[in-house]
Amino acid sequence: MKGIAPMSTTVVGSFPASPPVNSLLRYCREGADPFGESMRDAIEVQISAGIDIVSDGQTRNDMVKLFASKLGGIRMRGRPVIIGEIEYKSQITVPDQIEARKMIGARAKLKGIITGPFTLAKSCEDRHYGSTEKSAMAFAEALNREARALSEIVDLLQVDEPFFSVEYPGYSHDLVSAMFSGVSVPKALHVCGDVARIFPGLAELPVDILDHEFAAHPELLDTVSETDFPQMLGFGCIRSDVNQAESVAEISERIKKGIACVGEKRLVLDPDCGLRHLSREVAKAKLENLVKARNAVMEDES
Ligand SMILES: [Zn+2]
Repeated sequence: MKGIAPMSTTVVGSFPASPPVNSLLRYCREGADPFGESMRDAIEVQISAGIDIVSDGQTRNDMVKLFASKLGGIRMRGRPVIIGEIEYKSQITVPDQIEARKMIGARAKLKGIITGPFTLAKSCEDRHYGSTEKSAMAFAEALNREARALSEIVDLLQVDEPFFSVEYPGYSHDLVSAMFSGVSVPKALHVCGDVARIFPGLAELPVDILDHEFAAHPELLDTVSETDFPQMLGFGCIRSDVNQAESVAEISERIKKGIACVGEKRLVLDPDCGLRHLSREVAKAKLENLVKARNAVMEDES
């Protein structure tokens, strides 16, 4: 695929981060952005580990509040409440991605990430639309403007739909099409959890990469090998829910199973999900070992 080399390493998105105390103090004194340093730290850790396609670390907020708090028609409570038409008021992640692009320079590629419309719809209380399909389509139409803006900046655009593994709606194809309409860069869909049951449906979606958890759900490879699908496979090969780094040998074994299933030309390698809940040192070690494992496997293959 244009721009995405087989066996590239990437991340799903989030990185453990809390703004360092001195940057919070500066925020109080000078109004400086306390998350700028968290983003820089996340990016530098990924680049020094050797990750090919990095993210901005998504350190600013959790995946739902980050988007819900910036859209019109939503009141922020503990759980966001939809109280009117969902509207795209201003760019949401674009300013951070522009900053990330500057920090990265030519050292790596950059991934943009948008929380998917179905996951947002299921995470909000709806007092306006009266149907998840209607609110999800409204999210998709609003966030398509963010997607188009991001595609001018990033090398790859990923939509995260963890709720698809819980409930897979019949209008998924329409949602994903609306989200990515007019996007010119390669498109990825990340769905964590157990997707064995819905994988044949995911295979029909208009995206370039399907990204799933294979470290936590190795049995998913059986379903993948029985399914015809045109996309590349985002092959999660590191646990994102275990706060201990896997050895290079262990990750290499997982990667070899992925290659045996779909071939190395169709694999992109990453952790199962975001790394937000791990300690920074473990997240760093996991990414370093992922790159070492990829390199070792490539050496063996050649
Ligand atoms: Zn995930």
